[in-house]
Amino acid sequence: MPAPKTAISPTREADYPEWYQQVIKAADLAENSPVRGCMVIKPWGYQLWENIQRALDDMFKATGHQNAYFPLFIPMSYLEKEAEHVEGFAKECAVVTHHRLEPDPNGGLRPAGKLEEPLIVRPTSETIIGATYAKWVQSYRDLPILINQWANVVRWEMRTRMFLRTAEFLWQEGHTVHATAAEAIAETEQMVEVYRDFAENWMAMPVIVGSKTPKERFPGAVETLSIEAMMQDRKALQAGTSHFLGQNFAKAQEIKFQSETGGIEFAWTTSWGVSTRLVGALIMTHSDDDGLVLPPRLAPIHVVIQPIYKADSRDAVLAEAQSLRDEIAAQSYAGAPIRVSIDDRDIRGGEKKWYHVKRGVPIRLEIGPKDIAAGTVFCGIRNQPKSFGISREELIATIGTKLETLQSELFAAALHLRESNTVTITNESEFRDFFSTQNEDGIHGGFANAYFADEDALDPLLKELKVTIRCVPRDNNTTPGTCFLTGRPAEKMAVFAKAY
Ligand code: AMP
Repeated sequence: MPAPKTAISPTREADYPEWYQQVIKAADLAENSPVRGCMVIKPWGYQLWENIQRALDDMFKATGHQNAYFPLFIPMSYLEKEAEHVEGFAKECAVVTHHRLEPDPNGGLRPAGKLEEPLIVRPTSETIIGATYAKWVQSYRDLPILINQWANVVRWEMRTRMFLRTAEFLWQEGHTVHATAAEAIAETEQMVEVYRDFAENWMAMPVIVGSKTPKERFPGAVETLSIEAMMQDRKALQAGTSHFLGQNFAKAQEIKFQSETGGIEFAWTTSWGVSTRLVGALIMTHSDDDGLVLPPRLAPIHVVIQPIYKADSRDAVLAEAQSLRDEIAAQSYAGAPIRVSIDDRDIRGGEKKWYHVKRGVPIRLEIGPKDIAAGTVFCGIRNQPKSFGISREELIATIGTKLETLQSELFAAALHLRESNTVTITNESEFRDFFSTQNEDGIHGGFANAYFADEDALDPLLKELKVTIRCVPRDNNTTPGTCFLTGRPAEKMAVFAKAY
């Protein structure tokens, strides 16, 4: 039997990484730029990012944070102050050493005006923000500081992939200061829960919340919490992180305050971030061999209406499409009006349909003279293989519910994929098998839950199999067990996976 024709070629099964690139192209989300590792985010992709930003920003504000903005450049000496931090980021820094250009005697231009101190294009802003906070904080009355910044950052990544890992990316970074460790830990936990809420309820992407092991921690952090998701190729993606920085950065940058009892103490800080990687996560979680699939809560438009007419029926069909649009726009979904538009471009109906399928529009409606006469519309829902006729009345009455159903079906499908590709492993040979044998889809691995005693002892095996410890989950992880590799008693279970 020939394989059914798909809008995206290759299919996920044939070549997952190439499928990913082709979905981005077909949905017109982004493209590679002439600048190494940097992408151009196109309007459809940027609208998605704006919706992500809007929802997260509301959640940050609801938890008491405010936005501010700090410099793009960090003096090199600032980075040097926190030893682990600089070691972690030194290999991927863009460094500005000059401040003007002059004609080169051999032709063209050359940098001139050497800076006394090189400036680093921020890879993350703990140091520059910390230096500012040191000035703002004098007394316990100045605390807590709860600030977020929306910005771009640069990490000179060697292997880049659109959205998932780029040299320049857009993100938000929260940076907070507290009077006590307990308060800072509570903040770190609160923000990872905000990320979980966002991932699950907006992105329809189930995540595991856990702590990173010491080797996987953010450079300079005492504890890193992350959300980890399974992509459709069974690989893990770290989708967001929340760091408890202890007093490490406060000491390096002298963020000190006078306590209620009069003594001088170092403050406790946190930082937390998610990036345009979330767009990549969305694509890899829900999309199919016909292109992008968007969870309705983040879709730039929920419903597109395609009027179908010949010259003599044009006016009547367009008038009907407009009244349908207005009726739909008066309905609500997730507490806001439904976002609906008419696509009246002069292109073939089939081409137009696939255009919207590939861009992931949740609901497509077609309306032509016959539908108008019968009081029906033809309706396609992005996760259903077949379109269907429906009376206009019923459509209007149920359109909000249809979007809700799609949102929850996407979550359920992603959860099912994760659950059916998660195993519990108790010894080395099971572990080796799981990560080196292919399943019926030609994909190996998934998530392996296994107890471990000592991260260092695992190193050679993990390197050999190209597997990483994703996190030590916070939920349902209180019963001790036995290390799958060494047989020694182990406190906690971890999730192991191949990862992006
Ligand atoms: P970090 O400051 O390293 O904890 O990073 C915060 C978040 O940014 C991570 O959880 C990732 O989701 C994301 N991120 C890190 N590096 C990149 C990159 N090169 N491109 C896109 N997103 C990234």
